[in-house]
Amino acid sequence: MGDLIEVVGFKEENCVNCHQCIAVCPVKVCSDGSGDVVKFNNHLCIGCGRCIEACIKSHGGNSKKSARFPLDDADDFIRDLADKSIVALIAPSAGGNFVLPKLITALRRLGVTAVYDVALGAEITVDCYHQLLESGRVKPPLISQPCPAIVKYIELIYPNLINHLAPTGSPVHDLAVYVKNLHPDAELAFISPCLAKRREFRDSKMVRYNVIYQSLNNLLKLRGINLAELEDGSFDNPVEAGQAIKFSMPGGLKEAYLHRYPTTPASSITRIEGPVVYDKYLPQLERAIRKGRTDLPQMIDILSCEHGCNMGAGCINHFDPLHSVEMPIAQRAEQALHDEAMTVARQAFLQETAHLHDFSYNSYRDLSSRFDLSIPSTDELNEIFRKMHKTEDKDFRNCAACGYNSCYFMAIAIHNGLNKGENCHLYQEKELLYEQSELSDMIARLEVLNGELQQEFSERKQQEQVLVQNSKLAAMGEMIGMIAHQWRQPLSSISTVAGNLQVYIDLDMYEKDQFMTMLSEINNHAQYLSNTINDFRHFFKPDNPQDEVLLHEVINSTMSIIGKSLEYKNVCVINDCSFQNQILTYPNELMQVFLNILKNSSDAFVENETVAPQIVIKGYEEHPYQIIEIIDNAGGITEDVIDKIFDPYFSTKGPGIGTGLGLYMSKMIVEEHCLGQLMVRNEDDGACFTIKLPVVV
Ligand code: SF4
Ligand code: SF4
Ligand code: SF4
Repeated sequence: MGDLIEVVGFKEENCVNCHQCIAVCPVKVCSDGSGDVVKFNNHLCIGCGRCIEACIKSHGGNSKKSARFPLDDADDFIRDLADKSIVALIAPSAGGNFVLPKLITALRRLGVTAVYDVALGAEITVDCYHQLLESGRVKPPLISQPCPAIVKYIELIYPNLINHLAPTGSPVHDLAVYVKNLHPDAELAFISPCLAKRREFRDSKMVRYNVIYQSLNNLLKLRGINLAELEDGSFDNPVEAGQAIKFSMPGGLKEAYLHRYPTTPASSITRIEGPVVYDKYLPQLERAIRKGRTDLPQMIDILSCEHGCNMGAGCINHFDPLHSVEMPIAQRAEQALHDEAMTVARQAFLQETAHLHDFSYNSYRDLSSRFDLSIPSTDELNEIFRKMHKTEDKDFRNCAACGYNSCYFMAIAIHNGLNKGENCHLYQEKELLYEQSELSDMIARLEVLNGELQQEFSERKQQEQVLVQNSKLAAMGEMIGMIAHQWRQPLSSISTVAGNLQVYIDLDMYEKDQFMTMLSEINNHAQYLSNTINDFRHFFKPDNPQDEVLLHEVINSTMSIIGKSLEYKNVCVINDCSFQNQILTYPNELMQVFLNILKNSSDAFVENETVAPQIVIKGYEEHPYQIIEIIDNAGGITEDVIDKIFDPYFSTKGPGIGTGLGLYMSKMIVEEHCLGQLMVRNEDDGACFTIKLPVVV
């Protein structure tokens, strides 16, 4: 079964899955579109070559990029030219692709032994057909068989028509029979427009090489043979062909037949070519014959290609206007018919040849078992359509974008595993709509989520503000205590000076300078009290702005609030902090951080009864940060809680002493407001808090 020689090559990596090959293919099922690329099944291909042209078009006309390409015997022909006697048989359509007399010379240059005109074979074919009809050996309508693609199509799909195929050879076959007698030791090469001829030759074994015009043209270029520079050559035929020179044109057989047998009614020969042959005519013909219709023609002149063999798949004239392809062929036929002596010689030749040779041809096979399509039941069909998203009448577009002529045939292809619903135009459109609607749903859900997040965010913001406020209130309570310490000494000094003044007044001892000095002392103390109050008020001011500051000044302001309180508790503070450069930050908030840390150390000294409490404040710059370290000797933080001390509401102090917000707020201030880092570690006999602040924020 797998014995059809390949005539179409396939490069899977070049396939862009456009389905154009299926759209133009008369068989359809020889292409499998169920995967990511369209695969090709040679054993169902009739070799018409249409898919090659469609594929090249899909690649912008670039045949090198095309996934499908023609296969012929050019390589063997070129290889054997050197050491074999090869006779070339040139198809009549060559006149529409090359300048024929120059081509003959070129072939001789390539090394062929002799060159014959297949149009003479067509003259023999016409005679053979006439004899067949006259003898009644074939039941009309006689289907002409020069086109191997049509023959293969009938063998595959309409086996009932095989008996109507002419049981004599095609023009090239008939000429080959004649030439073989003249050159028994030579191999024959058909210079050809047709891919499928390769298969005919494998069946008949008459011709060794099928060399399409495209391959020959490439070979001539490769060998540097320029036809325009060559002298004219002529065929080795014993006589010239006549009207059959036009055999390669649509209706060429009919014209040649009517010319040779002028009493034949033209109406008895039907001429047909192109897509309509496959789409309509052959099924109609098969039906008409089956029904025993009496209005059938005697002969059918039938070709696969729309413009006959003149523009077949192997031609090089696909971009030329039709008239410039057909005119040289028609002109050659006209010239040949003017030569009356040649006409007489031709007739004599044909009569003689008909008796000398056997032109019969019977290599037809019923291949219809290969064409085994399963037809889906109604339920299966409905299921296929449902999966293709075809739910309403308007979904059945029959647009052929999938490559089949209707949604029904696409469903059959899917049912037989030859395609998939995803390749339907409408399916893709609906999938896109579903995706769009899913996307819209998703966007709507995201918008709701976003609203919820914003709500949550603003609630958290409010909670944070409450936390900040709480922590400030807590700090305020502590600071009132600190201020009491700050004020204790100046207030007592003021009281002492005022008491002394009272004594002097009681003793009536007025000494102006002494009074001035004492009043100035009172004034200085009052000023100190006022500054402390200012720092305090400043600290509690809401919405403190960013400011450019020297960090050690922020430490000093902090010490002006807490310093005396520490001093009262005998805490020795070593302030070794000095910076050259200002940074842009939130000084007031940083004061809160420093106060929190210093207050925590102070509480720890009391709790741990530290003998010589000490706090060291260091400051240094490590680009791009300015770093402050506050180190105490209060015994450090136990390892099991050190990771939690920045959590909100976490406190190591006894009930009612700590709020658990101080360090949490400090972390937030340093990391979220000032974009720095606040870390803690144990060091020697105490804790070390490190505050890293970016120089540029
Ligand atoms: S050569 Fe013709 S029959 Fe073969 S796959 Fe191409 S279009 Fe179809
Ligand atoms: S025409 Fe066929 S083989 Fe060529 S690219 Fe398109 S799908 Fe692939
Ligand atoms: S609608 Fe789909 S299945 Fe129908 S012919 Fe067009 S592409 Fe093919």
